[in-house]
Amino acid sequence: MSRIKAFTSVDDNLVSWMRDIRRNLHQYPELSFNEHKTSLYIQARLTELGVGYRAGWGGTGVIAVLGNKDETDSHVGLRADMDALPVEEKNQVSYASKVPGVMHACGHDGHVAMLLGATALLKDNGCAGRVSCIFQPAEEHGNGADKIIREGALAGGVQAVFAGHIDTHFPTGIITVDEGVICSYSDPFTIKLLGQSGHAARPHEAKDSLVAGAYLVTALQTLISRETDPNQAAVLTLGRFAAGTANNIIADEAILDGTLRSSQTDVRGRLVAGLQRMINSVADQFNVKAFIVFHDCIPAVINSAHAAKIARQAATDVVGGEKVISQGKPSLGAEDFAFYQEKVDGCLVRFGANSLSDNSPAHSGTFDFDENVLGIGANWLARVAMGWSATPR
Ligand SMILES: [Zn+2]
Ligand SMILES: [Zn+2]
Repeated sequence: MSRIKAFTSVDDNLVSWMRDIRRNLHQYPELSFNEHKTSLYIQARLTELGVGYRAGWGGTGVIAVLGNKDETDSHVGLRADMDALPVEEKNQVSYASKVPGVMHACGHDGHVAMLLGATALLKDNGCAGRVSCIFQPAEEHGNGADKIIREGALAGGVQAVFAGHIDTHFPTGIITVDEGVICSYSDPFTIKLLGQSGHAARPHEAKDSLVAGAYLVTALQTLISRETDPNQAAVLTLGRFAAGTANNIIADEAILDGTLRSSQTDVRGRLVAGLQRMINSVADQFNVKAFIVFHDCIPAVINSAHAAKIARQAATDVVGGEKVISQGKPSLGAEDFAFYQEKVDGCLVRFGANSLSDNSPAHSGTFDFDENVLGIGANWLARVAMGWSATPR
């Protein structure tokens, strides 16, 4: 008797298989690029389905490819992120995290379960085109997608990538589909001001980087309030300011860590230029040296009209047209799904998953979601892959 599992529809069997997967992953969450047990667990479930895969993408990623390249020129990617967050779980549930200080607080455990469910559906119903099921590490860290793409995750001729994110701002049953920008550019930066230390009583012998830094903190606030169109979303936050060692020593170095978020390409360009201009000007004013380094920047998620149309049709088939809505304004959150869209066509949607009366935000220790979304997500992923294969290009 074959031990290979087969699922031909989103029935109770598939849903309970996915729920077990989600709850297992939830109990053993792992941080970005450390998803080793998660990776082995995904590989075991793919083996259970009789689906081949290649592991080790970005260290822990897994990609399973369905379909035969000799029979089709269509190739679509479906992506699930698989990492957890450094958050202590506060939920009193049977499947609560067993790892102190680490929690699946963004729903990526659900994303993995959904993509395994979709893999099962596509395999057992046959798929017209090739489908790469991409289990991607390190979305929260911000560069997992970039890393596996550099390693060749899309090199097998992948033409488009689709994904959905669980979102408890919307009730279960809703799928949001938008074309254009849905998540913002994220540009984290570090500013270093270098002066000259000296005696607190003799400032004329020193160059005070702390005063220059304090001045810069205030000056930078006007980049958004005085230089950016109030109708275009953007935010600049400085989250860390470190300078000096003692009350009687003038600080020779100040470090400011911050992040810039913007949803329009031209706004981003102006803000980056403005940031550089203000830093140079404050450095001149206070006679210190200034440097800025941007790191782990993430582009905006921009859904193409073509991919959004296929995503919308799949969503309509799953939940009905009246439950397919817009998410509203672009989020100022970042999503490394944008790296796929820099290379190929693609669309990211949101799966409503809120049926709880007391709903906590993602990234909090009390975050949880309605598991009824698992079947909806798996169904949408499978249908969007079939929709891409069936659409003439
Ligand atoms: Zn997150
Ligand atoms: Zn997330």
